[in-house]
Amino acid sequence: MNLTRRRGAIAFFITLGVCLTALAVTLNITWIHHNGRRLAIDLVGVILFGILIAGVVLNTVFLVREIRRNEQQDSFLNAVTHELKTPIASIRLYLDTLQRRTVDEPQRKKFYNIMRSDTDRLLNTVEQVLKAGELGQRDRDRRRTRVELHPLVAECVATVCSRHHLGPDEINLLDVPGRVRLFVMGNVEDLRTAISNLLDNAVKYSPNGVQVTCRLAIEHYTWVTLSIRDQGLGIQPRELKRIFNRFYRSSSMDRIKIKGTGLGLFLVRTIAQQHGGDVRAISEGLNKGSTMLLRLPLAIGAASPGNTAT
Ligand code: ADP
Repeated sequence: MNLTRRRGAIAFFITLGVCLTALAVTLNITWIHHNGRRLAIDLVGVILFGILIAGVVLNTVFLVREIRRNEQQDSFLNAVTHELKTPIASIRLYLDTLQRRTVDEPQRKKFYNIMRSDTDRLLNTVEQVLKAGELGQRDRDRRRTRVELHPLVAECVATVCSRHHLGPDEINLLDVPGRVRLFVMGNVEDLRTAISNLLDNAVKYSPNGVQVTCRLAIEHYTWVTLSIRDQGLGIQPRELKRIFNRFYRSSSMDRIKIKGTGLGLFLVRTIAQQHGGDVRAISEGLNKGSTMLLRLPLAIGAASPGNTAT
């Protein structure tokens, strides 16, 4: 079902719900009017109509939600299919060229680099889908260790810089005030996924130049907050919470061209919650940049050698 037809279906069900509710109210008033003197029957009528109206409203809400969920799953499938097909087609094209033609050394190197970044893109998509499935499993291995955050964030910054071919000044990681070593109790792999997703987004949604600042700070003595600020496309106030829903992707035109699965921030939120923390987005609006704040409980105690994340 295409987008216009789906919107039509949602509008139809909302109209149907409103009409049925209006009909029920009208019937109720008529009933009261005609049986004004019979109080007991009146009361039964009012209760039954109340139940009827509640049923109609519930039914409409449920249907609209289901249609929206279907819509999101469809666009997720389309996005994933595209994200899988495009790099495979590109790799195949370069392999065919290398096989059929004699290519000089610099060009060969260029082809290898393109194929490598296509493979990274493919791997990233597959990992996101697998991680989304894995995080929901109850019997998952949730081994936790003391993780020092600054080296972990530095490692993620280096990976994202190399993945997006960024210069050393484009993502700036500030030192912790007083050079305090901040530890959390957590699963290193999951924390790496969360931080990398936030950094990836900060780069992806800055199409006119990347200028990202990461900062770690202690909050209220018990929390450590990682803030990732970019100067990119920004987020509309009504989307600040929704972007953390599974499969949610902004439908504004400037973002449709930027590829993704709508799973990244859902993974970040799930990981933050599983670590007893949270994540939220701040933005003053479109084209005004955005800040993501990942908050985790601070692990108590002194640092011990060999227990860091790296
Ligand atoms: P994806 O990037 O694959 O679409 P995410 O779950 O990572 O999925 O993000 C959901 C939506 O949130 C994106 O479609 C985008 O509109 C918005 N978003 C996320 N991070 C940023 C950011 N740093 N700046 C602007 N918009 C963002």
